[in-house]
Amino acid sequence: MLKPLTLRPGRDDAARRRHPWVFSRALSAPPSGAAEEIEVRSASGALLGRGFASPRSSIAARIWRFDDGPLDAAFVNGRVEAAAKLRERFVPPLTDGYRLVHTEGDGLPGLVVDRYGDVLVVQATTAGTEAARPLWLPALQALFPSASILQRNDLASRHGEGLPLEDELLAGERPPDRVPFRERGVTYFADLAGGQKTGFFLDQRENRHLVGGLAAGKSVLNLFSYSGGFGVAALAGGASRVTHVDVSEPALALARENHAANGQDLSRVETLAADVFDDLRARVGRGESWDVVVTDPPAFAKKTPDVDRACRGYKDVNRLAMKLLAPGGILLACSCSGPVSVDLFQKVLFAASFDAGVPARILERRGAGPDHPVSIDCPETEYLKAFLLAR
Ligand code: SAH
Repeated sequence: MLKPLTLRPGRDDAARRRHPWVFSRALSAPPSGAAEEIEVRSASGALLGRGFASPRSSIAARIWRFDDGPLDAAFVNGRVEAAAKLRERFVPPLTDGYRLVHTEGDGLPGLVVDRYGDVLVVQATTAGTEAARPLWLPALQALFPSASILQRNDLASRHGEGLPLEDELLAGERPPDRVPFRERGVTYFADLAGGQKTGFFLDQRENRHLVGGLAAGKSVLNLFSYSGGFGVAALAGGASRVTHVDVSEPALALARENHAANGQDLSRVETLAADVFDDLRARVGRGESWDVVVTDPPAFAKKTPDVDRACRGYKDVNRLAMKLLAPGGILLACSCSGPVSVDLFQKVLFAASFDAGVPARILERRGAGPDHPVSIDCPETEYLKAFLLAR
């Protein structure tokens, strides 16, 4: 018999609409005790779904299935296999780095699995997801029997739930700190030891491809470059020169390694350790002109109260970036702040264009690639926005 979590009267709408998040304030009593499998019931006792509790989170449980079937190995296997099949259809050729499992978008709440060649890097963002490990780990091992599976635990959400923050090797041999993988034949290194996310920004793959396709003969300014993904793709696409700006010297060192791994001409590459805001002001002051500029800052807003301040940051960066655009120049303006909607981000870009006195035309509105599916039941998990603008 599973422990029931009972919703307050009138608080069952979200679960009935298949929204997987059960907020603690919607419960008649807080979940007691452990992160474990639970069933969610309405005030009148109707079964709404089964999932896993995360007692210390404001999202007290996430529902994994809404019918009355069991939350067992066969069910989770099915979800993991379906996730892998989807990638077989949508991941481009010569690519062995992609997101294999994307949380609610694959019906596996709180579970992220990124594949880098023979290495799977897992993040279990909640206590409930951690408790479900006996279900998802065998499913991953069955699909990738010889893979190393590393769980990276240095996440803010885990900190908040009091979960261990040390990385854990779940299967296979311990992978090296830097693991090479390919994207459309271009080699990159994922930084499993100290890197951001699981070691690389796989979510930008299709946008890197876009920039690569626009780069032939062009100068490219890659702001907030991290390990240089956009610039490596640009040089692979024939860019005349690429400048990466990031505050992190280790990230820039990895960018140089990524260029070198593809035999690219390093004399066309410049890396600059600087604050982008200061650097942009200096470039505007010098009257520089660029054919392609990418702005991909960290998430300025993680929560709704941060949105105003975040928008000021996005406006500042993109206003200055627009001033650097050559006539006909291209700006790829990105935001990975979940609480900043597409509409709001577009308004910010309008304000940036207006204040800069630089016209901007929207060519495309983009997001993460199809290996980052978003459940239509849970739109809150969509986060990446990218506007392709032309001066
Ligand atoms: N565009 C990258 C991902 C960017 S992540 C890619 O495609 O891989 C955000 C990056 O911004 C991080 O590498 C971080 O070091 C850097 N950063 C954060 N604040 C910064 C600032 N004020 N100036 C320069 N870099 C900054």
